[in-house]
Amino acid sequence: MSDVRVRFAPSPTGPLHIGGVRTALYNYLFARHAGGTFILRVEDTDQNRYVPGAEDYIVEALSWFGLTPDEGPGFGGDYGPYRQSERKDLYAQYAMQMVEQGNAYYAWDTPEDLDAMRKEDANAKYDASTRVKMTNSLTLSEDEVRSRLDNGAPFVIRLKMPENEDVKITDLVRGEVTFNTKDLDDKVILKGDGMPTYHLANIVDDHLMKISHVIRGEEWLSSTAHHVLMYRFMSWEAPQFSHLPLILKPTGKGKLSKRDGAKFGIPVFPLEWDPGKDEDIYSGFREFGFLPEAVINFLAFLGWNPGTEQEIFSITELIEAFSIKRIVKSGARFDYDKAKWYNQQYIINTDDDVLAKMIRSEVGPEYSNEYLAKACGLMKERVESVGDIAKVGDFLFGSPTEYDAKMIRKKYKEENDPHFEALTDALSKLDTFDAEHTQSAIKRYIGDNELSFGAIMPVLRLATSGTMKGPDLFEMMELLGRDEVLIRMKDGLGKIKDIKSASQS
Ligand code: GLU
Repeated sequence: MSDVRVRFAPSPTGPLHIGGVRTALYNYLFARHAGGTFILRVEDTDQNRYVPGAEDYIVEALSWFGLTPDEGPGFGGDYGPYRQSERKDLYAQYAMQMVEQGNAYYAWDTPEDLDAMRKEDANAKYDASTRVKMTNSLTLSEDEVRSRLDNGAPFVIRLKMPENEDVKITDLVRGEVTFNTKDLDDKVILKGDGMPTYHLANIVDDHLMKISHVIRGEEWLSSTAHHVLMYRFMSWEAPQFSHLPLILKPTGKGKLSKRDGAKFGIPVFPLEWDPGKDEDIYSGFREFGFLPEAVINFLAFLGWNPGTEQEIFSITELIEAFSIKRIVKSGARFDYDKAKWYNQQYIINTDDDVLAKMIRSEVGPEYSNEYLAKACGLMKERVESVGDIAKVGDFLFGSPTEYDAKMIRKKYKEENDPHFEALTDALSKLDTFDAEHTQSAIKRYIGDNELSFGAIMPVLRLATSGTMKGPDLFEMMELLGRDEVLIRMKDGLGKIKDIKSASQS
């Protein structure tokens, strides 16, 4: 194992967004590429935002994608516990240490005090210019501070940000990013209930868990200035930072949000999520019929590229090719058509019997595994999702429910009825009813009777499947079998006749 240790550190405040999956993926790829360790750490110190079921959802999603942590809750590891709520007694001492050093301070402001501060100036933040007017250990006398502490009055601990100082962050994606402390507030690091905030818990754990690289979303970039200062206050070496580009809406404008799922009819979560109460259930990529490998490939390219033309990458190839250097800075547009294209490529390359297992629950029990596998083989080049196999190919699982009236009007001529009857008869008499034999019988009949293919084949196809878009006619006939094909010829031709005459009257 190399010294590379990275962590995916979600907060269980809801289902894992697809952007979170990308963060997990990049951490995973980076760790595997370097022969390092991929850690799952659950950042659940904010009890108010805790959503039951969210942690299980995160673990299930990672497992669906095969992004298995080396360490984490339920995964073992020498640096646990990996749930911050189980580490809560550990953080306060570091906050105290910063207070003792003069880099942090106690504050007793009430919510009303804070409101009043903001009322005076809507842009006001708790910082060097306002802290002098507030109730904290910098403004109260030593005796007052002591007595408040002795009386157990609940306090928060705030970072004492230096005044007007440039804090430089060396980001492996963005280069050097500088924040001036005058733009940053005195963040709370320890809350009134004794729990750390994200900022404190995050740096303490990254330090104690020996995290070498922090790879996370761009939204954490400005917090990083606070983190860098805390590392300095604690005399700890900071990890290397990489902030990933935003994922933008399909329109390319603005950040992709969970509301975009319903708006654009696209999945924005990996798996189904039921928010409970009366809210709508969200379908995930899985329920939309995506293969996990296809989503991985799609997400890998949402903010990274290998610098070559190659687009299809197995997970092993991604591990091999991945580097932080090739992560882009600008936002990555969530191109749903591209996601579907990836899925199509992966469906084509998936074994028919694997696909068969996936669609088993969508079709009746009367179909054998062999039948299902053949149906998948016939349909897989024609669908964008696994679920479409049984939907687009519904004529393989029951007589057509619809017939393409436009094509019928164009292609069907009553004068050919005797030929359709004769062809049906010829099919009924074949010794072997497979693609090869049906094909040669039909072609021979067309040739012998000097008919055109265009007058016969489309009608046979319409009678069999109702649509011109299905798979190869003869393969389809072989799969359906003689009895079913003969029924469809009879019924289908009847319906075709009706549709044609209805259109003429
Ligand atoms: N808990 C943070 C989140 O939910 C983690 C940010 C980080 O990786 O530092 O995204």
